[in-house]
Amino acid sequence: MAATAELAERYRAIMPSFISPLYEKPLSIDRGEGSYIFDNEGNRYLDFFGGILTTMIGHANPVVTEAVRAQAGKVMHTSTLYLNEEMISFAEEVAAVSGIPDARVLFTTSGSEANDTAILLATNYRKSNQVLAMRNSYHGRSLTAQAITSHRAWSTTSHSGLDVHFVQGGYRLRSPFAGLDDSDFTDACVADLVQLIDMVDAGGFSALIAEPIQGVGGFALPPDGFFGAMGKVLAAEGILFISDEVQTGWGRTGEHFWGYEAHGIVPDAITFAKGVGNGITLAGIVARAELMNCLTRNSITTFGGNPLSTAAGRATLRYVLENDLQANAAARGAQMRERLAPVCDASPHIAELRGKGLMQAFEICHPDSIEPDAAATAALLERTKDLGVLVGKGGLYGNVIRITPMLNVTEAEMETGLDILVAAIETMD
Ligand code: PMP
Repeated sequence: MAATAELAERYRAIMPSFISPLYEKPLSIDRGEGSYIFDNEGNRYLDFFGGILTTMIGHANPVVTEAVRAQAGKVMHTSTLYLNEEMISFAEEVAAVSGIPDARVLFTTSGSEANDTAILLATNYRKSNQVLAMRNSYHGRSLTAQAITSHRAWSTTSHSGLDVHFVQGGYRLRSPFAGLDDSDFTDACVADLVQLIDMVDAGGFSALIAEPIQGVGGFALPPDGFFGAMGKVLAAEGILFISDEVQTGWGRTGEHFWGYEAHGIVPDAITFAKGVGNGITLAGIVARAELMNCLTRNSITTFGGNPLSTAAGRATLRYVLENDLQANAAARGAQMRERLAPVCDASPHIAELRGKGLMQAFEICHPDSIEPDAAATAALLERTKDLGVLVGKGGLYGNVIRITPMLNVTEAEMETGLDILVAAIETMD
């Protein structure tokens, strides 16, 4: 097996400079098992990030592995030119859990492509290139997904040709309306939306796309009911609502199956990716039939709905539902919150603990301020790794620690991880 240092050098030499491994000394992963992952040196880590919320029901989950193995032994690829039972069955299953009436499903190969499709549909349906998105959003790396992203660290272009306007409300800590209570905050953001539409509407916006909890943005979230209130304004104008559930889907928030359900609104479309295949390349969009079927020309996705990936998706979704992992996300999320809340409250370095269920984050700032402290965040990330836990980083200023254990994490695993996280926070100087 190649030594980690040598692999790190080869990674830097052959991969583009705009991607980079986490940690000063990058980890090279050899294998995983449940909530644990092992590096090439044989070190074991508790994985509380899941390769960015993507390994969702444990590494090498035997149910998914077996489904992939069985499908790989039959046929790995067909394309959408042929009938493929795994794809059709999984589409039916996704439609059934989506909450969208008369839903249609298209599978894609990434969250970016799913969001591209959502914007393609919305702009065609509404015959408008005007799009609304939230401030502090991240929707992917394609040209369209970049256009609706408002996160400077990850914004590489604004050349899409879409006319995008960013709405207040996703990131409350640094919002001009931060001091308001939930209801006044929502009202202020809705008033801002109304004014934005009044001022810049050039014949009708196509859609508002939003993450119910902003992933890359550091698990920033508006009050419950927020998107329902925005939705009333959108509906009056005929503007569609697209919920990007790439990070919030499949029960992770504990209280609901989808993030949008906290808001009293049913989206016109949901996009999904990451955890749905427990690590196999799988993403997609589920939308009202009228919207999904609005294209009048042919379209095709070669890999979308691939039998190998949809077999993994079916096994993952079945496992989530049969084991009621949403309930586990609620219970383990409460356990995490209970341990972290007093520690974060007591720490002068932590401005805010936020999130829902198994999607919790805290924002690290200079003592008793909201001035971001990216250096302290990077140091905490290294320290948690040295102590044996992998967590993620995020936030507009790279100063947020994101914690997203597997949906089937056990109480004991959670306690072990929390002991380490608490120790790491308490030793910040
Ligand atoms: N939407 C959200 C909310 C995401 O977090 C991401 C990925 N971080 C994407 C879309 C893009 O997904 P992908 O990387 O699979 O293209």
